[in-house]
Amino acid sequence: MTQGQPLFEFRKVADGVHVAVATPAYKVNCNTAIIETGDGVLIVDSHSKPSAARVVVQQLRDITREPVRYVVNTHFHWDHWQGNEVYPATYPNVEIITNDITREAMVRKSLKRIRDHVRSGPAEIAKLRADLAAATEPDRRAELAWNLQQAEAYLAEVRALQPALPTMAFAGSLRIFKRDREVHLHHLGRAHTEGDVFAHLPKEKLVVTGDAVIAWTPFMGDGYPEDWGGTLRRLEQLDFDLMLLGHGEPAGREWLAVFRGYVEDLVDAVRQEVATGATLDEVKQRVPDRLAPAYEQAFSKYGTYRPWRTGIQTNIERVFATVS
Ligand SMILES: [Zn+2]
Repeated sequence: MTQGQPLFEFRKVADGVHVAVATPAYKVNCNTAIIETGDGVLIVDSHSKPSAARVVVQQLRDITREPVRYVVNTHFHWDHWQGNEVYPATYPNVEIITNDITREAMVRKSLKRIRDHVRSGPAEIAKLRADLAAATEPDRRAELAWNLQQAEAYLAEVRALQPALPTMAFAGSLRIFKRDREVHLHHLGRAHTEGDVFAHLPKEKLVVTGDAVIAWTPFMGDGYPEDWGGTLRRLEQLDFDLMLLGHGEPAGREWLAVFRGYVEDLVDAVRQEVATGATLDEVKQRVPDRLAPAYEQAFSKYGTYRPWRTGIQTNIERVFATVS
């Protein structure tokens, strides 16, 4: 992302259904699904900060006259729910929905992580400032200056955050039946987190996946790599043609096959190495080259943003820790 680019690109994907695709950025935002129901709008995910949610709210006025009635959070990560507070502030009757597992994770983990971000922000900013002062190459300097500006703006927002926790929580599945729309919310097992929520629009043959499926190398730091593939196999059982991903461009079922293949092959490869007694360093040496022919190109569509070779290293650490 370069300075001055809009935060989101809004796109219509079905009658009354839009997606705000977040521009890749140092301080990442998630994508938001915007679903008109005939009785209010249902929003899926609210970004990393209130100012980003406000951009969506502003744009909504051009898209629909319906007020927002529901905000769904797919999981407990900061970049998917820290903009929540904007919705009850703008639409007094809004309900924020997730499942029991994710709400619990927000209470137990996210609130602490918000305090961690407030605490670690100044050091992150100091480091970016030092890197900028040391950098000579103009493109690198421009990138660092922009990252620094994002870090400073984020710290100011996270300090003032009024975290809006979900007001409704479901177990298993919740089906919402509205005049013009049917929306099913499902928990299909552990994957990117313990509580990943999928939103399925059966008539439009569309699913919103959160970060259980994204367009670049997944983050597994809070994930369950051994369960992930099975959860995605259950997702494959649903009837849909289009996926609105947590990050990156919408995709079809063929991307789900590639993405699941990566997760399953990674787990298998690490397991095999561990069975032969390989150390973590050896696994990190060998497995990327083993998986590269099948996956490196597919996961490199965003160029130098979140490169696969870097992502797979932290993925291996997580898989190694869970299988050994
Ligand atoms: Zn996430």
